[in-house]
Amino acid sequence: MYERRQTRQISVGKVPVGGATPISVQSMTTTKTADVEGTLQQIYALAAAGCDIVRCTCNEQEAAEGLAQIVPRSPIPIIADIHHQYKMALAAMEAGVHGLRLNPGNIRKPEHIKAVATEARDRNIPIRIGVNGGSLDPSLYEKHNGLTAAAMVESAMQEMAYFREVDFDLIKISVKASNVPLMVEAYRMLADATDVPLHLGVTEAGPPPMGLVKATAGIGALLLEGIGDTIRYSLTADPVEEAKAGRQLLEALGLRERKNVDLIACPSCGRAEIDVIDVANRAMKAFEDKKLPLQIAVMGCVVNGPGEAREADLGIAAGNKRGHLFVKGRNVAVVPESEMVESLVEWAEFIHEHGTEAAIARVDTARAEREAAKDRAQLLDEKGDDANNAGEKIVEIRRTVGQ
Ligand code: SF4
Repeated sequence: MYERRQTRQISVGKVPVGGATPISVQSMTTTKTADVEGTLQQIYALAAAGCDIVRCTCNEQEAAEGLAQIVPRSPIPIIADIHHQYKMALAAMEAGVHGLRLNPGNIRKPEHIKAVATEARDRNIPIRIGVNGGSLDPSLYEKHNGLTAAAMVESAMQEMAYFREVDFDLIKISVKASNVPLMVEAYRMLADATDVPLHLGVTEAGPPPMGLVKATAGIGALLLEGIGDTIRYSLTADPVEEAKAGRQLLEALGLRERKNVDLIACPSCGRAEIDVIDVANRAMKAFEDKKLPLQIAVMGCVVNGPGEAREADLGIAAGNKRGHLFVKGRNVAVVPESEMVESLVEWAEFIHEHGTEAAIARVDTARAEREAAKDRAQLLDEKGDDANNAGEKIVEIRRTVGQ
């Protein structure tokens, strides 16, 4: 599909980042880090949703002390987010974190930056240089006449130069901005300038759905160019939503092995025999916690549904108050409309265990096809080819315009 950019490989705890290793998903806890149990609860929920690496704020001594208790009990590596005090970075390393995030716009004294990098070098702990458009070093803002991609890249390169002065190179970089084209431009420039692994994100993307759209536009565009080694959705939402979105984006782009259902559904139209939105939502809910790596279709009518979703492992299409189940486009069973979602779940579990061929072999497909053909014919009879009444509308338009 595209060639992945070659980067150096580092490791955040047990998770490799960069090189040819899988692109990882990150998120950040929203609890007070001093609240050890609350933070761990959120970390476990994030890990279950597909998060590979989690970041916790380390803004005060209590947070660092919390990290000392959280790190040994966390199922995934922990990165400490350092704000303005370099001593918190030293404290977080003492607590045992697997990585740090430093914002060059916040910690500016070269001796502080080098003190942190020296300690990280000695402890073999990677650091992300996390440039943020909103908190760019004011001198760079002035030099570049405002926030530009070049200014953000220069900020990252300056920080990297300090790190290299003390022989520290366990680095990854992010240049996040809330403006999507600006963020994309900055990452492209950075990808040309260095081979360190890149952490992608659109900062302050906002609440869903707008935040999801912005983050997906920026992160997805770069991933499709082969840029990016680890990603984070920054949403104004429960962080579990961030982890889910990150995982789903990687799965949709074929960059991560699918572990959950890929639910596809038709957009519905005048031919729909059911409330497609309702059935699709109920199906999503029913499959949410099931680890079934299958593509499952919910289609509004049996006239076009089975054909349009013939690539899906399993699907259901409505017709004449009945649900027509199909496996790889082959009609396999007819169920009452009220049992559509339950039947999908039952068939999905069977397919996951035995495969699609076994599912087709266990039923009389000829009978199911006859039933589907009967409903299809009846629907075509009732609604004709033009279920959306486009013909009638065109006649009306011509009459209106002609008047
Ligand atoms: S024709 Fe049928 S399958 Fe296609 S959008 Fe309309 S209801 Fe859905």
